[in-house]
Amino acid sequence: MAGKILEYDVIVIGAGIAGCAVAAAFSRQGRRVLLIERSLREPDRIVGELLQPGGVNALRDLGLADCLEGIDATPIEGYHLYWQDDEASFWFCDIDGRKPEGRSFHHGKFVSKLRDAVCSIPGVSLVEGTVTELLRDEVSSRVLGVVAVCSTGDDQMEMFYAPLTVLADGSNSNFRSQFTSSKPKAQSRFWGLEIADARLPIPRYAHSVLGRGPPILMYPISTYTTRILVDIPDPIFRDLGNSSAVRAYLQERVAPVVPNVMRPQLRLAIKSGRLRSMPNAWMPSTRNTTLGLIMVGDASNMRHPITGSGMTVALKDAVLLASLLNPADIPHLNDSDAVLRAMRRFHWKRKTHSASLNILAQALYLLFVSEDKNLAIMQRGFVRYVQDGEKRFAEPAWIMGGLTSNPFGLFYHFLSIAVYSIRLHLRQSSTLFGWILALGQSAGVLVSALGIIWGPLVDELRR
Ligand SMILES: Cc1cc2nc3c(=O)[nH]c(=O)nc-3n(C[C@H](O)[C@H](O)[C@H](O)COP(=O)(O)OP(=O)(O)OC[C@H]3O[C@@H](n4cnc5c(N)ncnc54)[C@H](O)[C@@H]3O)c2cc1C
Repeated sequence: MAGKILEYDVIVIGAGIAGCAVAAAFSRQGRRVLLIERSLREPDRIVGELLQPGGVNALRDLGLADCLEGIDATPIEGYHLYWQDDEASFWFCDIDGRKPEGRSFHHGKFVSKLRDAVCSIPGVSLVEGTVTELLRDEVSSRVLGVVAVCSTGDDQMEMFYAPLTVLADGSNSNFRSQFTSSKPKAQSRFWGLEIADARLPIPRYAHSVLGRGPPILMYPISTYTTRILVDIPDPIFRDLGNSSAVRAYLQERVAPVVPNVMRPQLRLAIKSGRLRSMPNAWMPSTRNTTLGLIMVGDASNMRHPITGSGMTVALKDAVLLASLLNPADIPHLNDSDAVLRAMRRFHWKRKTHSASLNILAQALYLLFVSEDKNLAIMQRGFVRYVQDGEKRFAEPAWIMGGLTSNPFGLFYHFLSIAVYSIRLHLRQSSTLFGWILALGQSAGVLVSALGIIWGPLVDELRR
């Protein structure tokens, strides 16, 4: 094998959201960081376009807030929901006297800004290259560094060494399976299009269409461009068979249910726009126990993107990780015991921000994709709960925005919505027989509600 031997404090594999954030956090602490990215071209993907307000705050904590400037990002103040023939809005209420705002943008432009910002921090070396192998100690299995094919003209293979390697190579991680038995599970894909020259009905709001067919998400990614993502379950896609059938499906099932103002431009986009898809996966995190290695971002933990929280989790993880591995507490990252102790704390401490976002994403998705009659009662209750105003939605909106860290608050509100739905349902019955029937259905609502939140909750708690 040709090449030099180079040494750093930390090697980060992948300069996506998580990799850039971790590289920035460690280098600001004076660590020498090597960030290796397989392509430094601007990414062109349909992921990571809406950053929750909590993610904006984390970006500020990392000293990277400027990355939201100059990319035509739109402030996001809330969400507007269409559900069957009803609708409701919720927004991020003031918290600590400040109005929280998210941002939506073109993913590639944001990532390019992050890479430029990270490159300018002293102590960071950003290299274009593909990591092909992790170097491991034969006896202890400790990760010692990486082998990478670098794009330096002659595609030279190089070895890089560091006491700590951070795996941030995303959802399709090539190396994850060496360290965890967790595998991403996807039951559906988001199919995405860009709609040109269409303004959403409420500026600065993301819009969701639910209960009118497949779940649909829309938000601006620039002043004149709106992203639409449509969740199509895998069995339906298998029946459709190819992307022209998906276009026909979108014309038939999606165009008629979006707001009128969007329809003509959406029909055009479905006809001739670039149609792309990404799997929507769920993967609970597992504790890092390998010496010399940490996994972050989608390589370690994923949730359904319906709530747009993956980047927020990754940025908050970077802030926490750097604080736990602070040089004041751990001057040398080859102090394996200290790093492993910090990783144990990281695994449980991160749940204060990640668990509620992970569980919320899965539970909301399962609630609105379900065809269970009991859950239809809860879907209606959810919309009415939101219509009841800030006293109901303020805290759940903060949870969704990554602004509060209270997993039990989420459980409380989920059950409150179930009870609220039951009360609404019982009130609709005017006869004794109808009331007895509604009571039976109400028990079903509670069981179904617990059924959808239980799985993700247990996944979060047991690892
Ligand atoms: C359809 C969809 C929509 C989404 N929408 C949102 C949203 O609106 N808001 C939100 O917050 N989250 C969203 N997410 C989730 C979000 O995109 C991810 O959580 C986030 O991008 C994870 O960042 P990451 O750095 O872990 O991975 P990535 O962003 O995928 O970065 C991984 C990087 O590693 C590089 N890499 C991979 N292998 C190697 C290798 N061997 N050597 C060198 N480099 C390598 C890749 O080139 C890439 O640059 C969405 C996800 C999906 C699927």
